[in-house]
Amino acid sequence: MIYQQKGVMIRQTNYSESSRIITILTEEGGQVPLMVRGFNKPNSPFIVLRQGIKEFLFTYTRFKGMGTLNEVDEVQPFKKVNADFDIYSHASYVMELVIRALEEDVLHDSFYRLLIKSLKLMEEGSQPAGVVAFCAIKMLPYYGGELNVTECAVCGSKNNRNFFNYSFKYHSVICSACMNDETGARSVPVTNRVLYLAGYMKHVAVTNVDSIKISEENAGSLLKFVELIYDEYTGVYFKSRKLLQSY
Ligand SMILES: [Zn+2]
Repeated sequence: MIYQQKGVMIRQTNYSESSRIITILTEEGGQVPLMVRGFNKPNSPFIVLRQGIKEFLFTYTRFKGMGTLNEVDEVQPFKKVNADFDIYSHASYVMELVIRALEEDVLHDSFYRLLIKSLKLMEEGSQPAGVVAFCAIKMLPYYGGELNVTECAVCGSKNNRNFFNYSFKYHSVICSACMNDETGARSVPVTNRVLYLAGYMKHVAVTNVDSIKISEENAGSLLKFVELIYDEYTGVYFKSRKLLQSY
């Protein structure tokens, strides 16, 4: 059967001197392995696949198991993302956040939409660290994590102007009136603005986000806070996170 689907290449491995096997994440959220004959040849029609993070339209033949790629066309080349090392590193982080949560034989079309939205936001000039934080907050439930920033875990107050701490004892924010030596055990100070942004990103629908225009400082603090949450609840080690911290 012949398929034509939008997708992003998420893995590749050499099969022979001239051919590679790639795995694509399709717009339906499935993973499809494809044989790409002639991938490594200098005049290959699949040369566009070699570099960068891009959205493609893949035309392939598949019956069962591995398919064969027939044609590939660029849909979104994400030129700015692929040309700027800092943005590219953040985009790689977004890719990893999505890819690591994929499961065999489970379709996650929402993952695909989130991935493309995140890349598009970066392409259009949103703060890269803010976009990674947004993507990480949306992916958190799939890693078994939680983030509660709408009400104080002790008194139930929803007055978010009084939130300055996040507690790993209560798995939630605690308001300033309820903070004392006992309730404050295993809590970390987080700015009010960062907690507000985290709550907004948790609840907003992915389709309703057109840009993430926050200061570089707030974006950085927000990402640090979200990474703290990942460290606490998931124990997943992201290679691209390490890369970002090392330069
Ligand atoms: Zn309280």
